[in-house]
Amino acid sequence: MNTLRHLPPGSVSLRGPMGEAIRLTTRNRLMRVDYSLAVDAFRNRLDSPDGWCWRGEFWGKTVRSAIRAWEASPFDELRDVIDRTVVDLLSTQDADGCISSFATKFQPEALDIWNRKYVILGLVRYCESMNKSPAVRDAAARCLSHLMSQVRPASGRSLYQYGTHKGMSSASILGAVIKVYRLTGDRRFLDFAKFLYADDDGAAPVFRAIESGLPPSQILDGKAYEMMSCVEGMIELYRETGDAHLLDHAIRHYHDIVEHEIYVTGMGGLKDTVGEYWNEGRFKQTKLEGVGALGETCVIVTWIRFVLNLLRDTRDAAMADQVELALYNGMLGSMTLDGSGYSHRNPTPLAGPCWRKTGAYQIRGYGDFDCCLAQGPEGIATAARFAALAGDDGALYVNLYEPATIRLPEGGEIEIGGGYPYAGGTSLRFRLGAARRFALSLRIPGWSASTACRVNGESVAVAPETYATINREWRDDDTVELDFDYSGRIVHAPDGSPYSAFLKGPIVYCRDSFLGDINDPLPGDGRWEASSFPMAGAFRSVITLSDGSRLSDYASAGNKFDQCNMLRVWLDDKACHP
Ligand SMILES: [Zn+2]
Repeated sequence: MNTLRHLPPGSVSLRGPMGEAIRLTTRNRLMRVDYSLAVDAFRNRLDSPDGWCWRGEFWGKTVRSAIRAWEASPFDELRDVIDRTVVDLLSTQDADGCISSFATKFQPEALDIWNRKYVILGLVRYCESMNKSPAVRDAAARCLSHLMSQVRPASGRSLYQYGTHKGMSSASILGAVIKVYRLTGDRRFLDFAKFLYADDDGAAPVFRAIESGLPPSQILDGKAYEMMSCVEGMIELYRETGDAHLLDHAIRHYHDIVEHEIYVTGMGGLKDTVGEYWNEGRFKQTKLEGVGALGETCVIVTWIRFVLNLLRDTRDAAMADQVELALYNGMLGSMTLDGSGYSHRNPTPLAGPCWRKTGAYQIRGYGDFDCCLAQGPEGIATAARFAALAGDDGALYVNLYEPATIRLPEGGEIEIGGGYPYAGGTSLRFRLGAARRFALSLRIPGWSASTACRVNGESVAVAPETYATINREWRDDDTVELDFDYSGRIVHAPDGSPYSAFLKGPIVYCRDSFLGDINDPLPGDGRWEASSFPMAGAFRSVITLSDGSRLSDYASAGNKFDQCNMLRVWLDDKACHP
């Protein structure tokens, strides 16, 4: 097994659009959350099966976001916030190890197992990244042991018979179980994980359905991020057992999602009023009605995490392209410009006028919590984790090229400059001190049809949708220059309907009502030039097309989060509507 590793916290400082988004959402959301209220769900056991039953997920989701943000930019005030709320959460643990938002008589019904999964994942991430505290590690282990005492094989019913979405919410605990095993080395947890995966008494259909290779929308009820969370568990189980079938299933599932579900904006989910299910979304993204809302933010956060996780084992550059598309478009677009809020459902429909609105107050009388508001910052902060990965012998994989500093675990750093992801050249300059040989693998995006790559001025041949590996002795002031192909690309609707979308680099461009008529059709030539539109400060990137009309990057379009500010992504194609 040769899994790529994440760099230590603080290794990657992004200074482009994702770096700015991380800074803003840390300051304006994560530093302001009422963490004590999130702990109240456990302190006062506020959830119940016949009412609101997911207060218990907010703590783990929010703390996981905060830890990702701290990894991207470690600073003491955020560490203090996280340290304090972890201590507060642990104060709610019973003598038997139970941490639950449900009264004992209701356990482990409804979303109790789902909620506890997020508690365990929050504590595990804290131990992995911030503080290898034996007390926190033991609290996570005791919390899981208590849950194990309530389900098969120790007692009671199968874990899959609890929870929602035909057991998927409960089954998604698989990855958390393996992470607790890694943290503690206690074989009981690995044995439980294997039991969960294999428990085939007819009550464990989730993993069998995923193995069957059905399209995602036909797997149980199609609930998108619960399903991906289950597949994340399969990846973790593969890493412990070496069973390659598990990885194969996860890879095939990834391809099924790309082929059936992902929109031009890199996100997915539809069917209901908030966009939470797989439902052949790739083909329905251009429908104007009857498909529900598009793109729950939790779906895109989980998609990014799932694909990045898979990329570490496959080193498939096409997967990195998917992560990038999701980050700069759907993910960044779900966040308000100041980072304080996130959409729950995202702009709907994409082939007509639509607007953004924030999700909040999901549970009346219980603060400003919403599942997507809790997880949204995690998706944004994952950009720093994605930007570079470590292989063996000092090998470095670079995935993202917005301006940044990458500090290498072996010492020294690489400075990335240029105009990525919008236009212009990109340069990587080395500051290493002593010269050192290692393999640098540069992601050459699939969207860049022809990329010029020069190492200290000498051309190196590279191909799109691959990692170009340069293994040499690197020295101070060595420079790699990359000229990506930012030609405009016209993409036609996957369902054959007469709409087109405009992309340039990894960015989807669309109409915004402050830039002109959002129903203007799209010229078919793909030509563009940078715009000097006077309101450009409200947008990250504005371009002018050959007919003089303007487009904004999708993530900035509709950034007022109000019906006064409409946008449209799929446009009438002039070639189809002469
Ligand atoms: Zn959500």
